[in-house]
Amino acid sequence: MEIIHRRKRMMSVSRRLRREENQTIGLVPTMGALHEGHLSLIHEARALCDVVVVSVFVNPTQFGSGEDFASYPRDLTADAAMLAEYNVDYVFAPAVEEIYPPGFASYVTVEKISGDLEGASRPGHFRGVTTVVAILLNVVRPNFAFFGQKDAQQSVIIKRMVRDLALDTEVVVLPIVREESGLALSSRNAYLNKDERRAAAVLNHALKLARDAYEAGERNAPRLIDLTRAEIEKQPLARIDYISINHAETLEKLERLDDEPALLSLAVFIGKTRLIDNVMLAKPKKEDAAGANA
Ligand code: AMP
Repeated sequence: MEIIHRRKRMMSVSRRLRREENQTIGLVPTMGALHEGHLSLIHEARALCDVVVVSVFVNPTQFGSGEDFASYPRDLTADAAMLAEYNVDYVFAPAVEEIYPPGFASYVTVEKISGDLEGASRPGHFRGVTTVVAILLNVVRPNFAFFGQKDAQQSVIIKRMVRDLALDTEVVVLPIVREESGLALSSRNAYLNKDERRAAAVLNHALKLARDAYEAGERNAPRLIDLTRAEIEKQPLARIDYISINHAETLEKLERLDDEPALLSLAVFIGKTRLIDNVMLAKPKKEDAAGANA
């Protein structure tokens, strides 16, 4: 496994792999502080691609002022040890100036769908995300790039960017990996103390209640949201930022859930730590339904 710090080196390695060796490249973009959620993406990349590149970059442009850019957990040595065990071929760990050289002035913005949900709570966040992902895709030029459903809106926005800008990469989105308590794995869980960690299980618990209600036939979005809110409000350490139900692809806010898959997503503070989670609400496919009745 080679750790690459320079963008030029990364570009020349991937150019050689593609052109001379005809290898398929998979990229897993991360901010490090790796956990099983990241590893599930790497596992899939390993299965699908000849060469796996994992980027580790805490991207300053996606953090707002007053957010945790300075304190975000960083430990490249521990991350690299984990990645070597997973047979990763290249770790791309650039310094900030490698991604944003002096005079940097070009940003990528995906309009409309970046404005709500996380975009409303964290202005400028997605401009930072889409800009860094566009740069990473151009530097590595992967055949496949892997993202987690944990950041559902991010996945939708990146898919849209790749389509709109005709980038030659297939975006693969993989399911949320959770702890036994149901808490979605996140690098930011490291900020939680013991009580907060226990309390944080309420996010998934509330989402599951809503999903059960949906599966029992509830199609009214405000009612599903109220159900989720009421459950979270029972937890004294929790403070809700938002709970929303949106079309899974257009991210349009929904009042009623009909045939289209919907995304129930939320952001909740547990103590000072802001956590996000989500669940898809979709009718089972016809074959599955038939199978269930058989
Ligand atoms: P991050 O390092 O937080 O920027 O995350 C890097 C990638 O890992 C993103 O595509 C995330 O959506 C994904 N990811 C983070 N947590 C999880 C999780 N619990 N399950 C699946 N994917 C995750």
